[in-house]
Amino acid sequence: MARVEVTNVTVSQGLRMLFSLMTPNESSFTTVQEVPTYVNQATPYFIGLILLEIVLGWLKTDGPRIKINDFITSLSAGMMSRLPQLMMRSLELSAYIYVWNNFHILELPWDSAWTRWLAFLGVDMGYYWFHRFAHELNFLWAAHQVHHSSEYYNLSTALRQSVTQQFSSWVFYLPLALMVPSYVFAVHIQFNLLYQFWIHTELVKNLGPLEWILNTPSHHRVHHGRNPYCIDKNYAGILIIWDRMFGKFCVYLDKVVYGLTHPISTFEIWTRFWEAEGISNKLSVIFKGPGWTPGKLRLGDIADIPQVGIVFFFLLHYIKIFLILIKHKLVANYFCRSIYASGAEMSMFTLNWKLLFLTLLVIYYLLFV
Ligand SMILES: [Zn+2]
Ligand SMILES: [Zn+2]
Repeated sequence: MARVEVTNVTVSQGLRMLFSLMTPNESSFTTVQEVPTYVNQATPYFIGLILLEIVLGWLKTDGPRIKINDFITSLSAGMMSRLPQLMMRSLELSAYIYVWNNFHILELPWDSAWTRWLAFLGVDMGYYWFHRFAHELNFLWAAHQVHHSSEYYNLSTALRQSVTQQFSSWVFYLPLALMVPSYVFAVHIQFNLLYQFWIHTELVKNLGPLEWILNTPSHHRVHHGRNPYCIDKNYAGILIIWDRMFGKFCVYLDKVVYGLTHPISTFEIWTRFWEAEGISNKLSVIFKGPGWTPGKLRLGDIADIPQVGIVFFFLLHYIKIFLILIKHKLVANYFCRSIYASGAEMSMFTLNWKLLFLTLLVIYYLLFV
């Protein structure tokens, strides 16, 4: 069985592993020890593509699309996040191997296409739920916010990973360990991570029909946005279908402003924990969303998110009104639903008042701001 060694990764294989496009022959093994460390071997391709993005970005915009301090921070975080693996296997893999060795109830054949597809889908769905919880539970967000802390969006942002994230992500893959062999999982968990590198770019605009199924740069830009319409959307790893299925999909609508909604201070979660009154509030600080405060819904109030790009906000409302007026209410709802984070539909009456208010606001904006 062919396998990828440190010394014989062809350029084709190196590039294809970044897009989850390795053939079964190249990526099927019968023991965990045989499985290559794809992520480590991808380093030259990460660097090559980052350089390519800098050059293309420069040519396209007459200026660098990368800030050196931000770039070094992302690279440092990426290196730090790999340090625990100098001493041990990743926790994700170690926990999986333990459950597979001791508790599996089925042994799916390692060389079957069905097993590979199940592993691919299972790992991707496991990642989806891990990622969603990483945004919806404050104590997991404390680790994951590192990845969202850059105010730029380029391939180096993909490397800005948390060192503590793997201490929670391992749980989400364990159901698979009841039937999918550890040496199949060990391949797919790496491919899932590697795929998420190339989607961190502004240079790829829209990929047409691929946008229906795959997580793309366009979809992931929304995930990194701090515009209210981007908050808690598009958690996908490889397939965007999970967000579409579980109601968290939002199409790219307008220029995204990247980064956190507010700068997070050191030990913020603990400060908030000690300051909260009563055990119920203290537990809520840990286990509810980062935007939660007493009296608010579990994930907080979208109205508390600072507005960015106000002009876009007007435009979206006018487009919606226009679509409703020409009787395409369904299209209008689909197109604009992300802006109404509460999920409440607006009646025409409400819309008219809102229209009046927005018109006055536009006039104010144009005249005085
Ligand atoms: Zn995220
Ligand atoms: Zn990302």
